[in-house]
Amino acid sequence: MKKILFAFFTLALFSSPAFSQSYKKLHEKAIVIDTHNDFISTGIEKGKSFDQNLKGITHSDLKRMKEGGIDVQVFSIFCDENYGKGTAYAFANREIDTLYATVARNPNRMMIVRNSKDLQTAVSTGKLGAMMGVEGGHMIEDEISNLEKLHARGARYMTLTWNNSTSWASSAADERAKKDLGHPYGLNALGEQIVKRMNELGMIVDISHVGEKTFYDAIRISTKPVIASHSCTYALCPVPRNLTDEQIKAVGKNGGVIQLNFYSGFVDSSFRDKNNAFIRKHQQEKDSLLKSNPSDFYANLYLHEKYKDEIDGVRPSLTLLIDHLDHIVKLIGVNHVGLGSDFDGINSSPRELNDVTNMPLITEELMKRGYSKKDIFKILGGNFIRVLKANEQ
Ligand SMILES: [Zn+2]
Repeated sequence: MKKILFAFFTLALFSSPAFSQSYKKLHEKAIVIDTHNDFISTGIEKGKSFDQNLKGITHSDLKRMKEGGIDVQVFSIFCDENYGKGTAYAFANREIDTLYATVARNPNRMMIVRNSKDLQTAVSTGKLGAMMGVEGGHMIEDEISNLEKLHARGARYMTLTWNNSTSWASSAADERAKKDLGHPYGLNALGEQIVKRMNELGMIVDISHVGEKTFYDAIRISTKPVIASHSCTYALCPVPRNLTDEQIKAVGKNGGVIQLNFYSGFVDSSFRDKNNAFIRKHQQEKDSLLKSNPSDFYANLYLHEKYKDEIDGVRPSLTLLIDHLDHIVKLIGVNHVGLGSDFDGINSSPRELNDVTNMPLITEELMKRGYSKKDIFKILGGNFIRVLKANEQ
């Protein structure tokens, strides 16, 4: 009976108008930073601009970022493995041009953030702070001078690999698949030089997507705290992109931060099978889509959008995403976790997180789980700011 009464009491408390007001207020007050959003590459692909109203088309746009309480967004400078020598670095610059142009069109609503001082200015003036992170070492085309130029244009982290390995670092996907790269896994001499140069420049080393060998090499060499800009935990969802408990402990020791990815397949270990069954059901349609665009990602995204009600039934709950957060906190404490949604780079997210406007629901869930205001501020942005500052020194 006591239990029932308690359950009733907590239900009443968390569904009261006062509670609804308080989580929204807290979210509004916090500096909310998302360290991974793929709008720029998706926008180029779809022919859409960030300052358009894209509700129902993308996860994010400028207006909805504000509705979601986002203060600072790190935009991913990304291209896939089809870009290589002679094209990847040029495409990175085209994406940076795109972001600069968007900011120039909206000088009262956005600003480029290059450092923690700019970040504070963005927050105090109420503009969306736009940061950049390079996703995939292949974009520097094996040239440290390209790394330096991307840093000079404002890129403040680089994910050492995407799903594809480079000549100097092996990816999680390739290490797990035991792919023969023609050289040992991990960082080679050039890879070590790149990490060292990033430390000197104050460019954060991002270990999302990298293989375990590369991960431990990077952690050993880096003299500054690292980030995982968009990763979850292997213990709760064993996929190559997620971090094992040992890796999580190593990030804790390094002083870094793990920013949670919202992709259903990284959050929920049962999603992959359910999603595969869904795709098999619509295989004929997928095959016809692949004829015009050979990208698996876009074919699946099309099916997810077309059969929304059907796929909604297999999306995980937001509570499972926050279970990943709890798991990290249990292992290494509250100073090493944050948010890296991967919005506009994923085709499925937890069912409560349809787009960026739903971000306050994360704060609600954290409050329900008893996290203090101070801890929530750290999770929403404070931890990332600490790592950014440590890299600036
Ligand atoms: Zn990614």
